Amino acid sequence: MSALAIFGGTKLRDRPFPAYRVMGPAEADAAKRVVESGVLSKFLGTWHEDFWGGPEVRAFEAAWATEYDAAHALSVNSATSGLYAAVGAAGVGPGDEVVVSPYTMSASAAAALVFNAVPIFADINPETYCLSADTIAAKITPRTRAIVVVHIFGQVVDMDPIMALARERNLVVIEDCAQSPSCTYKGRPVGTLGHIGVFSLNYHKHIHTGEGGVVTTNDAKFADRVALIRNHAEAVVAGKGTTDLVNMIGFNFRLGEIEAAIGRLQLAKSRPLVEARRANVAYLESRLKGLEGLRMPAVAPGASHAYYVHALSYDPRVTGVSRDLVVRALKAELPPTELREAEGPLIGQGYVKPLYLQPLYQKMIGYGLVQCPFKCPHYCGSPDYALGACPDAEKAHFETLITHELMRPGMTRADLDDVAGAFEKVWRGLPELRASEGRNAR
Ligand SMILES: *Cc1c(COP(=O)(O)O)cnc(C)c1O
Repeated sequence: MSALAIFGGTKLRDRPFPAYRVMGPAEADAAKRVVESGVLSKFLGTWHEDFWGGPEVRAFEAAWATEYDAAHALSVNSATSGLYAAVGAAGVGPGDEVVVSPYTMSASAAAALVFNAVPIFADINPETYCLSADTIAAKITPRTRAIVVVHIFGQVVDMDPIMALARERNLVVIEDCAQSPSCTYKGRPVGTLGHIGVFSLNYHKHIHTGEGGVVTTNDAKFADRVALIRNHAEAVVAGKGTTDLVNMIGFNFRLGEIEAAIGRLQLAKSRPLVEARRANVAYLESRLKGLEGLRMPAVAPGASHAYYVHALSYDPRVTGVSRDLVVRALKAELPPTELREAEGPLIGQGYVKPLYLQPLYQKMIGYGLVQCPFKCPHYCGSPDYALGACPDAEKAHFETLITHELMRPGMTRADLDDVAGAFEKVWRGLPELRASEGRNAR
């Protein structure tokens, strides 16, 4: 009879961890106020004062611009929409390539496809899980138009060398800040480190409005083009006198007034909520950092971290036990989290499969059955989507990365002690895990 729950021992904890709750009475009041006003949206898809949206949208955008020290902040109904608008605003089109990380949520790469361009995946830096100037440079061709960098897990990308490369090659840099609100790089907020930044307000994120997003930029031309793509550009350009018609095929990416009113209140909570995560992570790391074969996430010099997830690097060569078995043993010790019971314990193996391994890229079927944009007659490149294309992303995903969300605000010191206790218990049981894997291998 073993002590480890995976071998039938008693679980370290049964009682669920507390939910992450960020909505309060002020948000409820704001929603009620907007509903009672009768104005749930005020956007007009023509060239008119209301092209810019209603009072809540504008107040939210002004507050966001101030918080992020951005000349322009434009709300959208998701970060996915924001990424599409950003890539469209950058003038990306058929025949172009966009360099992007494979280790991110699918929309970071799909944004290129929407404008008939081809995503080219550059490898991650295994310390930060983000793109680096070197991995990007290796993928630049005469067809490259833009780069989408992702501050993945809340780790801010080392931007200076990337911006130097972009200047040299005349490329537009889009920052996917969905996982990194309230972060800075060398004292400057994320979102305007590149040319265009995109934030998410979906309900998984640090702060949210159910669904929503924000695009930031210091460039008036990009702001103008994002606003058009957000709101039926094709119907607006004539009245507005816009002559650059590239990608002026409008979508409806507009955020509602209720979400904007809630968003303004959420924005005010962003820094304290991110600080609380940092404090929880600091405590957890003080407990975990001595465990053999386990490395805490690096915070790059000059950068800050928002800990959307806590990304631990595990070295199976040190412990002699595979990452997958260690994670299964941890899951067996831990309870689920309230409101997300169906997901089981919020700890897992890797993050998302490197994107080029999705069917979309493996089969290269996008628009129609003619394989556009991958085999578009205007495109003369040949992207590498084969297994092995980005070895560091694959190694992190399939072998070494452990991610968890058991550091969200709402977790008490006692809850964090249980998380650390589960790791310590599993590490004490490493000899048994080694023996069991050895048996199975024979
Ligand atoms: C959540 C997320 C998105 C998409 O956000 P939505 O608002 O759901 O569209 C994009 N990129 C990254 C890295 C994300 O985590």
